[in-house]
Amino acid sequence: MNLLDLLFPKICVGCKKYGGYFCRECVEEIKQSELVCPFCERASLGGVVHAVCKRKYGLEGLWSLGIYEGSLRTAIQKLKYKWLSEVAKDLVDITVEYWAKNSPILLDKIKKDQGRFWIVTAVPLHPKRQNWRGFNQSELLARLFASKLGLNYQVTLKRIKNTTPQMKLLSHERKQNIKNAFEIAVSTQLSDVSVLLIDDVWTTGSTLKECCYVLKRNGVGKVWALTVAR
Ligand SMILES: [Zn+2]
Ligand SMILES: [Zn+2]
Repeated sequence: MNLLDLLFPKICVGCKKYGGYFCRECVEEIKQSELVCPFCERASLGGVVHAVCKRKYGLEGLWSLGIYEGSLRTAIQKLKYKWLSEVAKDLVDITVEYWAKNSPILLDKIKKDQGRFWIVTAVPLHPKRQNWRGFNQSELLARLFASKLGLNYQVTLKRIKNTTPQMKLLSHERKQNIKNAFEIAVSTQLSDVSVLLIDDVWTTGSTLKECCYVLKRNGVGKVWALTVAR
């Protein structure tokens, strides 16, 4: 045990047991969310967009670990505190473990491509908000996902509108709020690239869909959304 562990003992975010940030029992309690098509949110094998729901600038699919409740909700809320960023590592490990176990369609595809055309990117925060908070939790998750999957993390988008946090809005207001909030942040050619777009939670999907739209308008071939909870 090191000094930090003594000063800040690791306590499970779910049941407050000592030892780790996310104990095995609490991990097993996570309710797997049914995988859905990102367009109509009806059940879909592996989270792949239904053929009839496919749009030119829309997502190819959505994969989420579990339902946003209980221990998973608590763990995600803790990500806001930088000193608890180790929780993020646990969450990423658990997500990839479940992903490999259940519906690994996309994971298999990435492996087959040997990561050549895949990059991992995150939904960005507005610089003002990032400065105030100190870091971007989605970027933290994305960097961890990238290293876990052996892919490159890349900044691809910037937030040009300091929008009202989506959580504070009704679902019909969210789409309008996030419209034109992002701009492409890279000068390199993005064609032929497939993107794994990371955010912590999928609620209505407006934010991830808007990011996907901007990426695809700028030449990105395929975009999959990956969130820890839905
Ligand atoms: Zn626990
Ligand atoms: Zn659909």
